[in-house]
Amino acid sequence: MSRPVQARRLEGVDKNIWVEFVKLAATYSTVNLGQGFPDFPPPEFLKEAFSRAVSGEKHMLHQYTRAFGHPPLVKILAQLFGKLLGRDLDPMTNVMVTVGAYQALFCCFQAFIDEGDEVIIIEPFFDCYEPMVKMAGGTPVYVPLRPKAPKEGKLMSSADWQLDPAELASKFSEQTKAIVLNSPNNPLGKVFSRGELELIADLCVKHDALCISDEVYEWLVYDGKEHIRIASLPGMWDRTVIIGSAGKTFNVTGWKVGWTVGPNRLLQHLRTMHQNSVYHCATAAQDAVAQGFQREFEHYGKPDSYFVQLPRELQQKRDQLVQSLVAVGMKPIIPEGTYFLVADISEFKSEVPDVPNSDEPYDSRFAKWMVKNKGLAAIPLSAFYCGAHKNNYNSFIRFCFAKDATLKAADDILQKWKLEKAAP
Ligand code: PMP
Ligand code: GLN
Repeated sequence: MSRPVQARRLEGVDKNIWVEFVKLAATYSTVNLGQGFPDFPPPEFLKEAFSRAVSGEKHMLHQYTRAFGHPPLVKILAQLFGKLLGRDLDPMTNVMVTVGAYQALFCCFQAFIDEGDEVIIIEPFFDCYEPMVKMAGGTPVYVPLRPKAPKEGKLMSSADWQLDPAELASKFSEQTKAIVLNSPNNPLGKVFSRGELELIADLCVKHDALCISDEVYEWLVYDGKEHIRIASLPGMWDRTVIIGSAGKTFNVTGWKVGWTVGPNRLLQHLRTMHQNSVYHCATAAQDAVAQGFQREFEHYGKPDSYFVQLPRELQQKRDQLVQSLVAVGMKPIIPEGTYFLVADISEFKSEVPDVPNSDEPYDSRFAKWMVKNKGLAAIPLSAFYCGAHKNNYNSFIRFCFAKDATLKAADDILQKWKLEKAAP
């Protein structure tokens, strides 16, 4: 029994922040602002569509559908994204449905990355990009968003975290096969500006690199900001895969319906990956999401559109959380998008002391202390950095504000904490 059972590609990718913090939250916390999911229901029209799909007359919705996407879903996605991108899209070749955005990402890395290829990842990043690149045999190359100090007396914004153009350019080389872009960005909530996207696009074109564009938070943008799709910039359509998620779009993270949109020259390889791995995604969930998009297509830009209402509601929740965090002495970084907010906890070192020379970053220790002692769960920002850079930005934690009752309960904890701090 001495023969190793583990394939080499799994070396060093066994730890996972969600597994660790979901368990911690379940054990200790009464109030969970950690893992990103809403505590409120999805829109009625979507729930009704799912009910109809599973209990209606169309019993074939319980069977397999087309491998690369249920026809009604790929059709409406092609229509909507065609309109958003200003180009004609073929539902059969320019769209592919996946098991959540996770599988879309996995297909991209498996389909495009070979041993020796480099993939540029912008830090902080959604954690799964790193293990997925490594499992494909590629080498992740990291480039950080660097924070600029905010104006005197002002809170920092996610827009203050920026790429250094020269540093970004220095990461591109002959080995660069792709860059992963995530705008709006998880965890910071940064919405990349047109200028920043043009910088990335120019480098992709110059170095003939692909762009894996994770846009799962595309509808969650605040303060009148605009989400710009990098695929719409010159020279980018042919080299970009757009990734989306019904989980984020309609607040149904458990349904695991995602998609890819892009040119056939790229999507044909995603189809090869998909047909040889999961083959197919749940038909009823795809049918319900198709109906949800159909409704949104008809209400596009109107006041009763879910894509108009949801960001409005979430912006209020963001502002509520900002106030609660400021009360206890954390310094929130105001997110321009997503339903996440990162807060600076460096002022807490007297209350929760740092342990010099410890392998564990301060924010991770702080988040564990907070869940155990205050019953409030959040995610350390260092989880969104590669191993070598975890200590570069280790005094921030990420909160999810897609919450109703949970946000109120978090405020109660933070207000009580504030009073305790004020007590002699
Ligand atoms: N990308 C980002 C940036 C995410 O935050 C998430 C988490 N939901 C995903 C991809 C995965 O999405 P899904 O739940 O649709 O698989
Ligand atoms: N995307 C979610 C987040 O960032 C959670 C992903 C997961 O649980 N694997 O919180």
